[in-house]
Amino acid sequence: MEIALVGIGEIAKAQHIPSIAASPNWKLAATVSRFANLHDVPNFTDFDEMLSACPNIRVVSLCTPPVPRFNYALAALKAGRHVMLEKPPGATLSECQTLLDVAKDQGVTLFSTWHSREAVMVQSAKEWLAGAIVHDLQIIWKEDVRRWHPDQEWIWEPGGMGVLDPGINALSILTEILPDPIHIRAARLDVPEGRQTPIAAFLEFAHPHGATVTADLDWRQTGPQTWDIKAQTDKGTLHLSQGGAVLEINGAPVNAPHNHGEYLCLYTKMANLVAKGECDVDLAPLRHVADAFMLGHRATTDPFDW
Ligand code: NAP
Repeated sequence: MEIALVGIGEIAKAQHIPSIAASPNWKLAATVSRFANLHDVPNFTDFDEMLSACPNIRVVSLCTPPVPRFNYALAALKAGRHVMLEKPPGATLSECQTLLDVAKDQGVTLFSTWHSREAVMVQSAKEWLAGAIVHDLQIIWKEDVRRWHPDQEWIWEPGGMGVLDPGINALSILTEILPDPIHIRAARLDVPEGRQTPIAAFLEFAHPHGATVTADLDWRQTGPQTWDIKAQTDKGTLHLSQGGAVLEINGAPVNAPHNHGEYLCLYTKMANLVAKGECDVDLAPLRHVADAFMLGHRATTDPFDW
């Protein structure tokens, strides 16, 4: 299938373009970008122009930040195209629901992707936790914003979500592997002076059986990066680290199954959804982020500059 890629920035270059190239299902037939010019791929600076000039392109993958993504997604769906959304799927829950309603009306696929759920050990962690009683679960997600989001001002603007932008990856894993329904009961958001979004956050979840479930998110970590989920259960301990790539149960490493990489898995899923005429839109991670912003206590912290 021919596909168009919109927003040729960090993640499009690092993951989407190589994954599409490596996939037998897809041919990158156009880009929509203000600046990009890929060899052998026609580029449009205007999205509507691409839609009308390229009727053969039935699928659009949107890699812009969340706030500017909605208008592209809506236009693509209304033009009868299937749409794949980077995470977070939107800036608000309501706009995602609108997109899902339009996709269903139009009979096209909408896929809100969660790349971290495709990390190689996530399904093994889910299977092990399925039979366990969780007593305590901690997310520790600490990375260096200057390394992963260099000069991206949008992350500090309303809708950019700040540290919840990478934090939502942890929440996408959590909502995949934890069998119990949880909700945020308290949050602390540390917002740099003069900015709109947090550089650090601490989330506390209510759990139906009283387990302690927390997420400690920080964008100020230099040196080794930490993307860990640790659980204490009646069966022992689970330690999912490196963003879901490594799993230890009771201190012993679990062998990793073969995996083609997170983004190739997403593009394979998209091909299957289009073939079956289905949508896949799970808003649970975004709901927790929205709740954190709704309930969170804001504290002003040191100004941030690049
Ligand atoms: P980015 O490089 O800052 O932006 C991506 C591209 O979006 C830009 O290069 C630009 O494309 C377009 N864009 C930016 N602002 C726009 C605006 N206001 N209107 C229209 N287009 C705009 O961001 P990114 O790091 O790739 O992140 C994009 C999405 O991918 C985010 O939702 C993020 O959470 C997700 N993601 C990022 C990473 C990461 O490590 N960076 C990892 C996984 C997922 P053109 O210059 O081509 O016009």
